[in-house]
Amino acid sequence: MSRPARVIVNPNAVRSNFDLAKSLAPQARVMAIVKADGYGHGIARIANALVDRADAFGVASLEEAVQIREAGIDTRIVLLEGPFSASEVRDIEAYKLDSVIHSSNQIDYLDKASAPLSIWIKIDTGMHRLGFAPTDLEQVFARVRKKDHVIHFLTHFASAHEADDASVDEQMRAFDTALKSYEGERSVANSSAVLAWPQHRADWIRPGLMLYGVSPFKGRSAHACGLKPAMTVASELIAVREVEAGGSVGYGKAYVCPDTMPVGVVAFGYGDGYPRQASTGTPILVNGIRTQVIGEASMDMLTVDLRPIPNVQLGAPVELWGPNIPVEEVASYAATIPYELLCRVRMRARYVESLT
Ligand SMILES: *Cc1c(COP(=O)(O)O)cnc(C)c1O
Repeated sequence: MSRPARVIVNPNAVRSNFDLAKSLAPQARVMAIVKADGYGHGIARIANALVDRADAFGVASLEEAVQIREAGIDTRIVLLEGPFSASEVRDIEAYKLDSVIHSSNQIDYLDKASAPLSIWIKIDTGMHRLGFAPTDLEQVFARVRKKDHVIHFLTHFASAHEADDASVDEQMRAFDTALKSYEGERSVANSSAVLAWPQHRADWIRPGLMLYGVSPFKGRSAHACGLKPAMTVASELIAVREVEAGGSVGYGKAYVCPDTMPVGVVAFGYGDGYPRQASTGTPILVNGIRTQVIGEASMDMLTVDLRPIPNVQLGAPVELWGPNIPVEEVASYAATIPYELLCRVRMRARYVESLT
């Protein structure tokens, strides 16, 4: 038997989450965001799951786009950060990719193109990460248009995951104002905007996190949003032991047993992508029963409180997160966001697919 740590991905859940996004923005086309290896789910697996549905895929690099093409998929692909060098323009043409542009040197790179491309001009409406200032738009547009590229526009919200944050409307106004006299398809909405800002969806939505069945909101669960978690991170108990009252568990004696109690050891650690910060108190499912992590995760193992679980055996199944233990909850114990946990888990776990 091999080490039981594994990631189970459910493509049906991804399809159902996609359909929810689509139903919330029935007029819009959908650019399914699959960067960071499909948020840790496997980029080709997710692209395959959505190949009959997505109007485009959004990725962060040429390498990610190539992975989708090599899976035999010819759906539109948008490079969300655009080319990183002039030499990538040749690949953009060869692989038939759409490209975002957010900087003036990328317009220079585009001069290398031998035919018109499909370009998404990114406008910075207040996030101050990537994009042209609205005041530069006229000049950018003129330079890009010289080459007959097909032009679209996008911007990105900084705080659509916060209820009623005034900046969302402000960004939208800045976007509309900047584009008043330009033609071209527009895209603004990430998952949180799709779910919570019905007035701001535009021609293309760009859901990422929600496709994987995870809520972008602090106070609203995936279940409450109608989403189905697509990833289950699972392992098994590889040791079951009795530790005496006052005995400590794991590195640094981080947990001291209040009673003589059964303790389980799970084959999964930070080397598999479990957050080390998720220490005592973090929920975990053993044999279908919710209990807690105790102490701190080590590289290959973590320890769990077996007091709530009767008759537990070696080899008992463990869910670290998934349908029963929301990754959002684990993330909050680890003082991070679920996005980070999803992307990190792929380090060395084995992947399995399951349609239920
Ligand atoms: C990652 C990304 C998204 C998806 O955001 P989610 O919050 O995961 O829905 C959308 N647009 C751009 C430009 C992105 O980089």
